[in-house]
Amino acid sequence: MELNIAHPYVLLISGPSGVGKGTLVQPTVLDCPQLGFSVSCTTRDPREGEVDGREYHFISDAEFTQQVDQGAFVEWAHVHGRRYGTRHADVEAFLASGRIPVLDIDVQGGVQVLDYYGDRVVSVFVFPPSWEELERRLRKRGTESDESIALRLENAHDELTQVHHYGYYIVNDDSELARAQLGAILVAEGLRRDRWIDPPL
Ligand code: 5GP
Repeated sequence: MELNIAHPYVLLISGPSGVGKGTLVQPTVLDCPQLGFSVSCTTRDPREGEVDGREYHFISDAEFTQQVDQGAFVEWAHVHGRRYGTRHADVEAFLASGRIPVLDIDVQGGVQVLDYYGDRVVSVFVFPPSWEELERRLRKRGTESDESIALRLENAHDELTQVHHYGYYIVNDDSELARAQLGAILVAEGLRRDRWIDPPL
Protein backbone atom coordinates (compact mmCIF):
# COMPACT_ATOMS: atom_id res chain seq x y z
CA MET A 1 0.00 0.00 0.00
CA GLU A 2 1.39 3.41 -1.04
CA LEU A 3 0.49 6.37 1.15
CA ASN A 4 0.61 9.76 -0.48
CA ILE A 5 1.78 11.94 2.36
CA ALA A 6 3.66 15.22 2.32
CA HIS A 7 3.54 15.73 6.08
CA PRO A 8 4.22 12.54 8.00
CA TYR A 9 2.64 11.94 11.38
CA VAL A 10 3.24 9.66 14.35
CA LEU A 11 1.09 6.53 14.32
CA LEU A 12 0.36 5.58 17.92
CA ILE A 13 -1.12 2.15 18.62
CA SER A 14 -2.07 1.07 22.12
CA GLY A 15 -4.15 -1.67 23.63
CA PRO A 16 -3.90 -4.30 26.34
CA SER A 17 -1.09 -6.81 26.30
CA GLY A 18 -2.27 -9.90 24.40
CA VAL A 19 -4.82 -8.05 22.26
CA GLY A 20 -2.80 -8.83 19.13
CA LYS A 21 -1.29 -5.41 18.37
CA GLY A 22 1.87 -6.97 16.95
CA THR A 23 0.09 -9.23 14.48
CA LEU A 24 -2.25 -6.39 13.55
CA VAL A 25 0.50 -3.83 12.97
CA GLN A 26 3.45 -5.81 11.59
CA PRO A 27 1.90 -6.84 8.23
CA THR A 28 0.70 -3.28 7.66
CA VAL A 29 4.18 -1.89 8.44
CA LEU A 30 5.81 -4.40 6.09
CA ASP A 31 3.26 -3.70 3.36
CA CYS A 32 3.70 0.05 3.43
CA PRO A 33 7.15 1.53 2.71
CA GLN A 34 6.24 4.84 4.34
CA LEU A 35 5.68 3.17 7.72
CA GLY A 36 8.51 2.11 10.00
CA PHE A 37 8.39 0.40 13.36
CA SER A 38 9.86 2.60 16.11
CA VAL A 39 12.05 0.33 18.22
CA SER A 40 11.64 1.12 21.94
CA CYS A 41 14.12 0.69 24.75
CA THR A 42 13.23 -1.71 27.55
CA THR A 43 14.80 -3.06 30.71
CA ARG A 44 13.00 -6.40 30.37
CA ASP A 45 14.87 -9.50 29.23
CA PRO A 46 14.56 -10.61 25.61
CA ARG A 47 12.11 -13.46 24.97
CA GLU A 48 13.19 -16.42 22.92
CA GLY A 49 13.62 -15.37 19.30
CA GLU A 50 13.75 -11.63 20.03
CA VAL A 51 16.72 -9.76 18.61
CA ASP A 52 18.33 -6.69 20.17
CA GLY A 53 17.59 -3.68 17.96
CA ARG A 54 14.71 -5.41 16.15
CA GLU A 55 11.92 -5.96 18.72
CA TYR A 56 13.53 -3.68 21.33
CA HIS A 57 16.79 -2.12 22.38
CA PHE A 58 17.37 -4.26 25.46
CA ILE A 59 19.25 -2.08 27.93
CA SER A 60 20.18 -2.26 31.60
CA ASP A 61 18.47 -0.32 34.38
CA ALA A 62 21.54 1.91 34.69
CA GLU A 63 21.55 2.70 30.96
CA PHE A 64 17.82 3.45 31.06
CA THR A 65 18.29 5.86 33.98
CA GLN A 66 21.15 7.55 32.16
CA GLN A 67 19.00 8.08 29.05
CA VAL A 68 16.14 9.45 31.17
CA ASP A 69 18.58 11.91 32.77
CA GLN A 70 19.86 12.95 29.34
CA GLY A 71 16.28 13.69 28.20
CA ALA A 72 16.56 11.07 25.46
CA PHE A 73 12.95 9.87 25.74
CA VAL A 74 9.79 11.41 24.28
CA GLU A 75 7.97 9.20 26.74
CA TRP A 76 8.75 6.40 29.11
CA ALA A 77 6.74 4.36 31.61
CA HIS A 78 6.78 1.44 33.99
CA VAL A 79 4.84 -1.31 32.22
CA HIS A 80 4.22 -4.67 33.89
CA GLY A 81 7.04 -3.96 36.34
CA ARG A 82 9.70 -2.98 33.75
CA ARG A 83 10.64 0.30 32.10
CA TYR A 84 9.92 1.00 28.43
CA GLY A 85 10.65 4.18 26.49
CA THR A 86 10.60 5.80 23.04
CA ARG A 87 13.60 7.90 22.09
CA HIS A 88 13.23 11.34 20.50
CA ALA A 89 16.02 10.56 18.04
CA ASP A 90 14.25 7.47 16.68
CA VAL A 91 10.93 9.21 16.09
CA GLU A 92 12.54 12.34 14.64
CA ALA A 93 14.67 10.31 12.21
CA PHE A 94 11.50 8.84 10.67
CA LEU A 95 9.70 12.18 10.47
CA ALA A 96 12.75 13.94 8.99
CA SER A 97 12.93 11.37 6.20
CA GLY A 98 9.19 11.75 5.42
CA ARG A 99 8.23 8.43 6.98
CA ILE A 100 5.64 7.56 9.61
CA PRO A 101 6.98 6.02 12.84
CA VAL A 102 4.68 3.39 14.32
CA LEU A 103 4.70 3.41 18.11
CA ASP A 104 3.28 0.27 19.73
CA ILE A 105 3.31 1.53 23.31
CA ASP A 106 1.13 1.47 26.40
CA VAL A 107 -1.42 4.17 27.29
CA GLN A 108 0.78 5.90 29.88
CA GLY A 109 3.34 6.46 27.13
CA GLY A 110 0.62 7.15 24.56
CA VAL A 111 -0.75 10.04 26.60
CA GLN A 112 2.77 11.54 26.83
CA VAL A 113 3.22 11.22 23.06
CA LEU A 114 -0.16 12.90 22.48
CA ASP A 115 0.90 15.74 24.80
CA TYR A 116 4.21 16.17 23.02
CA TYR A 117 3.23 15.81 19.35
CA GLY A 118 -0.42 16.97 19.61
CA ASP A 119 -2.06 17.09 16.17
CA ARG A 120 0.85 15.23 14.60
CA VAL A 121 -0.37 11.98 16.18
CA VAL A 122 -2.88 9.55 14.70
CA SER A 123 -3.89 7.41 17.66
CA VAL A 124 -5.56 4.02 17.58
CA PHE A 125 -6.68 1.97 20.55
CA VAL A 126 -7.12 -1.76 19.99
CA PHE A 127 -9.76 -3.53 22.09
CA PRO A 128 -10.15 -7.26 22.66
CA PRO A 129 -13.64 -8.60 21.91
CA SER A 130 -14.03 -9.63 25.57
CA TRP A 131 -12.04 -10.08 28.79
CA GLU A 132 -12.33 -13.88 28.44
CA GLU A 133 -10.84 -13.74 24.95
CA LEU A 134 -7.99 -11.49 26.14
CA GLU A 135 -7.08 -13.96 28.88
CA ARG A 136 -7.29 -16.86 26.42
CA ARG A 137 -4.89 -15.08 24.04
CA LEU A 138 -2.43 -14.30 26.82
CA ARG A 139 -2.42 -17.96 27.90
CA LYS A 140 -2.09 -19.19 24.32
CA ARG A 141 1.10 -17.12 23.86
CA GLY A 142 2.74 -19.40 26.36
CA THR A 143 5.38 -16.80 27.23
CA GLU A 144 3.93 -15.54 30.52
CA SER A 145 3.63 -17.05 33.99
CA ASP A 146 0.25 -17.09 35.79
CA GLU A 147 1.48 -14.15 37.84
CA SER A 148 2.46 -12.17 34.75
CA ILE A 149 -0.91 -12.93 33.09
CA ALA A 150 -2.76 -11.70 36.18
CA LEU A 151 -0.68 -8.50 36.20
CA ARG A 152 -1.29 -7.90 32.49
CA LEU A 153 -5.06 -8.36 32.94
CA GLU A 154 -5.10 -6.00 35.91
CA ASN A 155 -3.14 -3.40 33.92
CA ALA A 156 -5.55 -3.85 30.99
CA HIS A 157 -8.42 -2.69 33.23
CA ASP A 158 -6.39 0.42 34.13
CA GLU A 159 -5.54 1.08 30.47
CA LEU A 160 -9.21 1.15 29.54
CA THR A 161 -9.75 4.18 31.77
CA GLN A 162 -7.55 6.21 29.36
CA VAL A 163 -9.05 5.23 26.01
CA HIS A 164 -10.86 8.54 25.58
CA HIS A 165 -7.49 10.12 24.64
CA TYR A 166 -7.38 8.07 21.43
CA GLY A 167 -8.86 9.13 18.11
CA TYR A 168 -9.75 5.71 16.65
CA TYR A 169 -10.97 2.44 18.16
CA ILE A 170 -10.55 -0.99 16.59
CA VAL A 171 -11.93 -4.23 18.08
CA ASN A 172 -9.54 -7.03 17.22
CA ASP A 173 -11.99 -9.93 16.93
CA ASP A 174 -11.59 -10.98 13.31
CA SER A 175 -7.93 -10.15 12.56
CA GLU A 176 -8.54 -9.71 8.79
CA LEU A 177 -11.25 -7.17 9.47
CA ALA A 178 -9.11 -5.37 12.07
CA ARG A 179 -6.23 -5.15 9.57
CA ALA A 180 -8.57 -3.78 6.90
CA GLN A 181 -9.85 -1.19 9.38
CA LEU A 182 -6.30 -0.08 10.22
CA GLY A 183 -5.61 0.21 6.49
CA ALA A 184 -8.75 2.31 6.06
CA ILE A 185 -7.57 4.69 8.80
CA LEU A 186 -4.19 5.09 7.07
CA VAL A 187 -5.77 5.74 3.69
CA ALA A 188 -8.20 8.30 5.11
CA GLU A 189 -5.45 10.06 7.10
CA GLY A 190 -3.32 10.24 3.95
CA LEU A 191 -6.17 12.00 2.11
CA ARG A 192 -6.53 14.79 4.66
CA ARG A 193 -6.05 18.24 3.19
CA ASP A 194 -3.49 19.21 5.81
CA ARG A 195 -1.21 16.33 4.83
CA TRP A 196 -0.68 17.94 1.40
CA ILE A 197 1.80 20.78 0.89
CA ASP A 198 -0.10 22.24 -2.09
CA PRO A 199 -3.38 21.38 -3.78
CA PRO A 200 -2.79 18.65 -6.38
CA LEU A 201 -3.65 21.02 -9.30
P1 5GP B 1 5.99 -6.61 25.86
O1 5GP B 1 6.90 -6.72 27.05
O2 5GP B 1 4.89 -7.65 25.91
O3 5GP B 1 6.73 -6.57 24.55
O4 5GP B 1 5.27 -5.21 25.94
C1 5GP B 1 4.54 -4.86 27.05
C2 5GP B 1 3.83 -3.55 26.82
O5 5GP B 1 4.78 -2.49 26.73
C3 5GP B 1 3.00 -3.48 25.54
O6 5GP B 1 1.71 -2.98 25.87
C4 5GP B 1 3.73 -2.48 24.69
O7 5GP B 1 2.82 -1.75 23.88
C5 5GP B 1 4.38 -1.60 25.74
N1 5GP B 1 5.53 -0.87 25.21
C6 5GP B 1 6.43 -1.28 24.30
N2 5GP B 1 7.34 -0.31 24.06
C7 5GP B 1 6.98 0.74 24.82
C8 5GP B 1 7.52 2.06 24.99
O8 5GP B 1 8.50 2.47 24.39
N3 5GP B 1 6.89 2.87 25.88
C9 5GP B 1 5.78 2.48 26.57
N4 5GP B 1 5.23 3.36 27.39
N5 5GP B 1 5.24 1.25 26.43
C10 5GP B 1 5.84 0.39 25.57
